[in-house]
Amino acid sequence: MRVLILGIDALEYDLVKEWNLQHLLQKEHGKVQVPIYEAEGEPVTLVVWPCFITGAEPEVMGYSSPILYRQPLRFILDYLFYPIYSFIKENQEKSKSIDFKQTRIQKIISKLNYKAMKAGFSRYPLKHDIKVPTIFDSEQFRSIHLHIPVYDESHTLDKHCNPRNNVIAALSDKTVRKEFSASLQQEFDERAQEVFDILQQDDWDLFMQYFYVLDGIQHVFFKNKLKIMDYYMKFNTFVGEVLQKIPDDMLVLIISDHGQKHGLHTMYGFYSSNVPLTLDNPRISEFKKILEDKLSISRKKRENL
Ligand SMILES: [Zn+2]
Repeated sequence: MRVLILGIDALEYDLVKEWNLQHLLQKEHGKVQVPIYEAEGEPVTLVVWPCFITGAEPEVMGYSSPILYRQPLRFILDYLFYPIYSFIKENQEKSKSIDFKQTRIQKIISKLNYKAMKAGFSRYPLKHDIKVPTIFDSEQFRSIHLHIPVYDESHTLDKHCNPRNNVIAALSDKTVRKEFSASLQQEFDERAQEVFDILQQDDWDLFMQYFYVLDGIQHVFFKNKLKIMDYYMKFNTFVGEVLQKIPDDMLVLIISDHGQKHGLHTMYGFYSSNVPLTLDNPRISEFKKILEDKLSISRKKRENL
């Protein structure tokens, strides 16, 4: 069968349940186990999505950190700084919201990261850092993929082309916040339209679309539950429309890399499928194989025509 994947960053399972968003909660749904980046004690976008598309855990996929450091910086951070830092953090009172991220030590870390990157001592992961084949690399299936982190779009320091880089500024600056909100709304509209356009084509077996919007909205507007709910509703309505437009034999998988509460990532992702997959608390790296099995039914059918 053909497969449509909607990758929705930071879609929180508990909120989808709480608001009973029927289209997002397809036939089968649940939480997903994801790799945790130890230095930050949470799952990070730039690691989890490549794990999903390669079906591999970070060590096999190619890297485990959202920023790659050159030696000797890497050695200092991995073996000295991060272990001490996470020890201190663990012994502090557990942080309750993203406000914690604004503490002095966090500000120092992000400033140092920024400087190290500018000086060429570190960088965000690029496509060639993904060391194993992805689900899109198979010659057996015709695939389309849009905006997948690292694979299609690499992260940069540029504030203009990447709304992610404006999260911290948007938390404190009203003007930035307004522009941030508008750019995310625009992203949602454009990417939803891309999905509808591609659904009209029949020259693919696998199509994955990625949405960043919910991650940004929940980081910046974490105190405004109505605004967050509004965006969850938008996604629910969008998926409802998608489900009406797809052919009968298409698998629709909705997947997220982590959820979010109080502006902080939660420790699990989300999945829902319109076709029963009979999974129980799966790992995010399990889906590649499952989807490939479903896709090979589609290929065999085509060959028999
Ligand atoms: Zn994310």
